[in-house]
Amino acid sequence: MEGIILGIESTAHTFSFGRVSTSGELFPSFSSLYRPEEGGIHPREAADHHSETTSLLLERLSSSDDFSWDSIIAVAFSQGPGLGPCLRVGASVARTLSTRLSVPLLGVNHCVAHIEVGRNQTGCKDPVLLYVSGGNTQVIARADGRYRVLGETLDIGIGNMLDKFARTQGIPFPGGPEIEKLSNEFSEKGETSLDDVLLPYGVHGMDLAFSGMLTSAVQKVAEGKSLGEVCWSLQEHSFATCVEVAERALAHTGKDELLLGGGVACNERLRNMSKMMCEDRGAECFWPDKPYCIDNGTMIAELGRRMLECGLETELMDSGIDPSLRTDNTAVVWS
Ligand code: AMP
Ligand code: MG
Repeated sequence: MEGIILGIESTAHTFSFGRVSTSGELFPSFSSLYRPEEGGIHPREAADHHSETTSLLLERLSSSDDFSWDSIIAVAFSQGPGLGPCLRVGASVARTLSTRLSVPLLGVNHCVAHIEVGRNQTGCKDPVLLYVSGGNTQVIARADGRYRVLGETLDIGIGNMLDKFARTQGIPFPGGPEIEKLSNEFSEKGETSLDDVLLPYGVHGMDLAFSGMLTSAVQKVAEGKSLGEVCWSLQEHSFATCVEVAERALAHTGKDELLLGGGVACNERLRNMSKMMCEDRGAECFWPDKPYCIDNGTMIAELGRRMLECGLETELMDSGIDPSLRTDNTAVVWS
């Protein structure tokens, strides 16, 4: 029988358990999303949510038809980057399970896990990753045994920017999907022109910035522009900045695959813009299914599987969390 690697994700709002088989078959995750009653994510409250939902999620996982505790051969968890209190809950559950089951522990770099689950699901080999999530926005490519950050946000993550804008308009977290819906409704009317809703365009070399765009979008609504029109403009501007930097990364590295990852990669407009750019330059564009774009335990299991294959187990003494772990901290020794 094939072994199963269990993966635990807890970097921010999502607490999730997922699985992958030793041959690389992905199984859907069991997840719970912390939704703040008001304001943004409060790390302590999100961590409480994770602790309180642990039993329920483990119960759901262990009662699924194809699950058996005996098949678990390793436990992977997000070691960073993320919110300290949230990471600590996932790490504690992982240490407990690995000790109880007497199987290896694998501390995983969350950003790298987004790449590896995307490679597994789409079959792309050596992509530039456009990683667009709540807390992170990075353009990443593999070079010399690391996933190198070629460009990234200088202020907030693109998802965080969308969520913050949504919150100013009374739209609850996560705001990205509702902004997409309002934007689609507006653009379907066919009256799209950026002339009245121009926003600051935050590309600085290979880096990005979103806070000026956010402030200006809030002002546009206050000045009387319709919410749909501003949502549309916000998507056009923010996605164009990401696609521009991703294109330059393809040009600089000579790679011909673009992989989208992170929750904002669920957005159809971003997918279309990325695909158009790739087609223009003879590259191919890939994205995983939506449950594997947002944070999920399965992606942590998948990177754990690659690490286990290379003997990269994490000793208990080295299993402390690292909230500011960088993408390029992790040596990539698997193929
Ligand atoms: P992650 O941090 O990777 O789990 O992704 C969560 C982020 O993805 C949140 O900021 C959401 O608002 C954003 N998101 C999810 N779906 C969409 C969508 N369809 N369009 C834009 N943003 C989205
Ligand atoms: Mg993420």
